[in-house]
Amino acid sequence: MERALNFNAGPAALPESVLLEAQKNLLNFNGTGMGVMELSHRSKPYEEVHLKAKELLKQLLSIPDDYDVLFLQGGASLQFSMIPMNLLTEDRTGCYVLSGSWSEKALKEAQKIGKTAIIASTKEQGFKEIPTLSAEDIDPNAAYVHITSNNTIFGTQWQSFPEVSVPLVADMSSDILSRPFNVENFGLIYAGAQKNLGPSGVTVVIIKKDLLSRSSDQLPTMLNYQTHAKNNSLYNTPPTLAIYLLKLVLEWAVNQGGVEKLAQVNEAKAKILYDAIDESEGFYIGYAEKNSRSRMNVTFNLQTEELNQAFLAQAKEAGFVGVNGHRSVGGCRASIYNAVPIENVEKLAQFMKQFKANY
Ligand SMILES: *Cc1c(COP(=O)(O)O)cnc(C)c1O
Repeated sequence: MERALNFNAGPAALPESVLLEAQKNLLNFNGTGMGVMELSHRSKPYEEVHLKAKELLKQLLSIPDDYDVLFLQGGASLQFSMIPMNLLTEDRTGCYVLSGSWSEKALKEAQKIGKTAIIASTKEQGFKEIPTLSAEDIDPNAAYVHITSNNTIFGTQWQSFPEVSVPLVADMSSDILSRPFNVENFGLIYAGAQKNLGPSGVTVVIIKKDLLSRSSDQLPTMLNYQTHAKNNSLYNTPPTLAIYLLKLVLEWAVNQGGVEKLAQVNEAKAKILYDAIDESEGFYIGYAEKNSRSRMNVTFNLQTEELNQAFLAQAKEAGFVGVNGHRSVGGCRASIYNAVPIENVEKLAQFMKQFKANY
């Protein structure tokens, strides 16, 4: 069977070797006579998977010991609520940088919980660019500053992260593990797994331990970060299969040479598509400003909606999956997360050139 040329935005492509390994263990995990999703979450074989996934993530991202790694459910979207519920104390403001739809959604949830402020935004410019953030925009007593490291829908990405004097909270759902960064500059990092880390169903939260003291006892137990930190993310039944797959993806990432190496490949992959856009003499029009281009989601349009549709239809016919833009913005988008092979990206660039030549 031939694997599809998968450019889905999420859930997205997984490494083939991971899927083959998982397939082997669906019926009989490590000689237990049970499939990996039939194991008790309190059993030794599962516990090993759980701890290993956590350890690998700490290793790959060089997460210091004063941070906890949590495996939660509810997607990145539940974090939009959990973050203000736990961190936005009454006397403080949650500061939000608006760089796209996901940050707007995060803000909307925080507004239901407490006092918020928009400290930078590129909404007026159609989110084509990452906002600039200056130190004087930030209230020194703010509860946190929230950013979205990669804007999956508009195809923009922070090129370097701001340094702020209050806890920096980042939604890294669509670019975690794609490039090196310093965890110590952040108070909390969260990511739904289904883009760069594994399948949907598990959300990774990396939280600086000293922030855990902000969570009130009045919070619902399951929505309190302390519950999960104290119980090693085993307070209730975790999504065991998703965590197992996360572990396999992290092992794959180590075998690829770690985050530095993955970043080099991602850089090369993105360059192939941006070159195809830039060398097309305006046939393809990149959505993001060049200074904010994402290495994970390459967004572009053709000159007319009719051409967009023709391109998407022919791309589909040629076997490319998921090249349509997000339903809210239209156009075209190629998501080229860690697990998308460079050969597939080359094929797409080739197709873009051929399509242009035909027109
Ligand atoms: C996909 C995505 C989300 C939503 O994730 P869910 O797990 O579906 O809630 C949030 N933020 C960003 C940046 C995303 O890419």
